[in-house]
Amino acid sequence: MSATVIDGKSVAAQVVEQVTSHTTKLISETGIVPGIAVVIVGEDPASQVYVRSKGKRAVECGFHSVTHKLAEDTDENTLLNLINELNNDEVIHGILVQLPLPDHIEEGKIIQAVSPDKDVDGFHFINVGKLGTGEIATAFVPCTPAGSMVLLKQALGKQDFSGLNAVVVGRSNIVGKPIANLLLAANATVTIAHSRTKDLPELTKTADILIAAVGRPEMIKGNWVKPGAVVIDVGINRIDAPEKGEGKTRLVGDVAYDECAEAASAITPVPGGVGPMTIAMLMATTLIAACRKAGIEPPTF
Ligand code: NDP
Repeated sequence: MSATVIDGKSVAAQVVEQVTSHTTKLISETGIVPGIAVVIVGEDPASQVYVRSKGKRAVECGFHSVTHKLAEDTDENTLLNLINELNNDEVIHGILVQLPLPDHIEEGKIIQAVSPDKDVDGFHFINVGKLGTGEIATAFVPCTPAGSMVLLKQALGKQDFSGLNAVVVGRSNIVGKPIANLLLAANATVTIAHSRTKDLPELTKTADILIAAVGRPEMIKGNWVKPGAVVIDVGINRIDAPEKGEGKTRLVGDVAYDECAEAASAITPVPGGVGPMTIAMLMATTLIAACRKAGIEPPTF
């Protein structure tokens, strides 16, 4: 079998198009412009790139977009005060604090300071709790897990995963656990694996849906995959690529792509799979936040 390649770039473009057209409609019907504030502390180059892309995409969607760039040595209180201002700012519907934060700032405290109604990252305990209890319609769901589910539903051609076994490798709060909860909500039978799991290859071979969110380059091998499974590779790992020249690198996922594509029925590539979905779903979540604030039924993605 040779797997269908799940084209995250094209699905992300469809999501952005849907967000843009709903935004135009929201503005013309209510005058409300979805507003997003991105806060970044420090100079981490990768974070700077992400923040720029988020701002650019927000403007493309027709949003009001502001970026707050704070110096590396900003103290916790200054950041908390800014978040408080944004929580009370009527034109801002979504707040995203770019992680990681510098070591002298307590990340958990900052995340919990964001109003749950503007928590478009879905990391506030209220949103985590809603997702965990199946209250998804009123929760904010973290963007990468939400994007993975959009790809999965398209690949399987259905919204309901009754009777399917899903194995999620990775149990982080930002990827593994929320994906597991979303799969459960879609009626899959879900197992979460992690670094202490015994006989991982035996377990992954039971999966009709296999999600890799590990952070270990190409760890999941072809003979770990059940023939016909749908494989979603969330991993983004930069490895040396001497074949491209001295000092060159390339991106790979947590899945050994070529061999897993032989066994799977559908698979996400890296790059070009889950990655592009993350920013697209941030836009979708911000639009949802604005619709909720306006008392309008938000679109579904
Ligand atoms: P974390 O490091 O927070 O979590 C990794 C998880 O993998 C942990 O639960 C860990 O287990 C588990 N794990 C580690 N080694 C093994 C092993 N040998 N066998 C089984 N399980 C193992 O990572 P994240 O969840 O934040 O990210 C996962 C990957 O997804 C990374 O490559 C990251 O770059 C990528 N990512 C991609 C995004 C995107 O936009 N596409 C967004 C976010 C992340 P334990 O809990 O026991 O330590």
